[in-house]
Amino acid sequence: MSAANGCPKAMLRAGETQLGFSVKRIEQIPEIRVTAYELEHIVTGAKVLHLHCDDRENLYAIAFRTPPKDSTGLPHILEHAVLAGSKNYPVKDAFNELLRGTLQTFINAFTYPDKTIYPVASQVKVDFYNLARVYTDLVFRPRLLRETFLQEGHHLEWAANADGQENLTISGIVYNEMKGAYSSPDNLMYKAIQENLFPDTIYRFDSGGNPADIPKLTYEQFKEFHLAYYSPSNARIFIYGDIPTGEHLLFLQEMLKDFGGISLDS
Ligand SMILES: [Zn+2]
Repeated sequence: MSAANGCPKAMLRAGETQLGFSVKRIEQIPEIRVTAYELEHIVTGAKVLHLHCDDRENLYAIAFRTPPKDSTGLPHILEHAVLAGSKNYPVKDAFNELLRGTLQTFINAFTYPDKTIYPVASQVKVDFYNLARVYTDLVFRPRLLRETFLQEGHHLEWAANADGQENLTISGIVYNEMKGAYSSPDNLMYKAIQENLFPDTIYRFDSGGNPADIPKLTYEQFKEFHLAYYSPSNARIFIYGDIPTGEHLLFLQEMLKDFGGISLDS
């Protein structure tokens, strides 16, 4: 049901409570034919923004504020590690299972200097909720095995040098990825500018990880960071597409039902 301005008719009212969420604000944005709903989960404080529009491409993204405290690349290693199986989906490479085994039109994960985002999209409703369900479980209840930390972060392994001599060397998926990034002059220049422009803020750190610092990260720090920052209280959920807001609230109500609120300064 679209009004004359092309925006779907608002189906909730600002100020009301629905399925454990309070409706903070509803606004129509005719320029993009969207009715936007700003909501908050009452128990956990999880924030939700739904852009409702007449587009069958539905997108779900769950994001967390993940300010780094150093350049060990913790947020980046965690981004890789949560995709390696969760409590309800204990598979070694959940990301690739979803990539190949669903009708996803987009699936990815991004680490930014201050946040980490996990988006999925699909044109098929059942597939969309399946993707969103698995992704939500991965971020809230990842297995975070020690092996995963070693594999994605850093570990020692024997490697032969040019003369065929075996030496212990540092390896790891993120470690190697960042060694690549740190060998690009453009990249180094950008990092140096950022470091010097924002010397007193978290932006002086590299959330992706500086190869010189990555090996300092411990498994315990890694687990603690997840516990603090990957909580619904620190989550921002962004949804786009033609599925009505009420259906998303039903889904999210179920996803968030086992969690309480925590106070966190992120
Ligand atoms: Zn990466």
